[in-house]
Amino acid sequence: MSKNDMLPIGSTIGIIGGGQLGRMLSLAAAQLGMKTAIFCPDPQSPAFDVTPNITIAPYDDEAALKLFANSVDVITYEFENLPLESIKLLEGIKNVAPNSRALAISQDRLQEKQFLSKNEINIAPYAAVNNEEELKAAIKKITLPAILKTTRMGYDGKGQRTIKSLEDGLKALKEFKGQELVLEAFIGFEREISVIVARNKNGMVRDYEAAENVHQNHILKTSVVPANINRIVAKRASRIAQHIVGSLNYVGVLGVEFFVVPAASDALDKYPTLIANEIAPRVHNSGHWTQAACLTNQFEQHIRAICNWPLGDPTRYCDIKMENLIGDEINGANEKLESGTQPHFYGKKQARVGRKMGHLNSIIK
Ligand code: AMP
Repeated sequence: MSKNDMLPIGSTIGIIGGGQLGRMLSLAAAQLGMKTAIFCPDPQSPAFDVTPNITIAPYDDEAALKLFANSVDVITYEFENLPLESIKLLEGIKNVAPNSRALAISQDRLQEKQFLSKNEINIAPYAAVNNEEELKAAIKKITLPAILKTTRMGYDGKGQRTIKSLEDGLKALKEFKGQELVLEAFIGFEREISVIVARNKNGMVRDYEAAENVHQNHILKTSVVPANINRIVAKRASRIAQHIVGSLNYVGVLGVEFFVVPAASDALDKYPTLIANEIAPRVHNSGHWTQAACLTNQFEQHIRAICNWPLGDPTRYCDIKMENLIGDEINGANEKLESGTQPHFYGKKQARVGRKMGHLNSIIK
């Protein structure tokens, strides 16, 4: 695909990862007349239900990756815990969106923090921790309570511990033995929000209104839009998200999570501060509400972006609540459906504790 090229209708989109995000991306691609091929090591992948073109192979299987790359027209991915080398290998053969730089940054909390700071985006105070000595120094610098996180492979609360004492820290250090860590100040936020933004290769950018997110056991439970924030804060969040995709020369949909922190009583700026927590180089759980409230949802937007098509309208047409169905909450969910609710069930066979099994989008009247 040369610079201004758009992929024609009927092209094949390769998706690395076969979870619910890959499934919903595949469904959106089909609506746009595109085909998808899905690469995932798990034979039970929920995305395999919605396309006949599947590759079951480990993410670092070079031969399988090469075959896959040569069978599709563009490649994207649906989660960030992939071997960076595999994405670089694919990039050598086909257009990959988002690019491997965005993936590298979001895979590593330290790189992510450095990127955000360089772009003058507020983040929580932090210190890298690799051993007991560094832990003690970090606690002195950051002060407690704080959160100790693995720099890599963390999601849905995995790879993080709240640290209230040196003992907690030492215990966590043992549990995370051998992994690079970062100690992050505990942020007393008033709420959490996120912005979903899209950019295509031609540099067209569209972002959705911020969602207000509530987590349970570190897993997203609900997203509500509109978020309870004032217009100035919303505008600032939007500007930051737009700046990030521009700075990364990003193509596709990206999610940015923020903590909203009340202004100090003596602050010159009376508006709450936004602290960026995480960027996700993909469609995002806190953007699922767009399926019921917007003409163009985040999945369609991602496909449009990576095919370099014009982006769709992100305007919201109703107040909306997205609720994740986690673990056994999926059982009998079909029997309890209300008429104002749009269900999305992922077809996963086992309802394990903490596993995202589906979500409900409900119009708020
Ligand atoms: P993360 O994996 O970094 O997205 O964290 C998951 C959730 O843990 C966040 O959405 C917050 O609810 C909570 N959390 C993470 N980091 C912090 C922090 N520095 N201060 C307070 N809460 C946090």
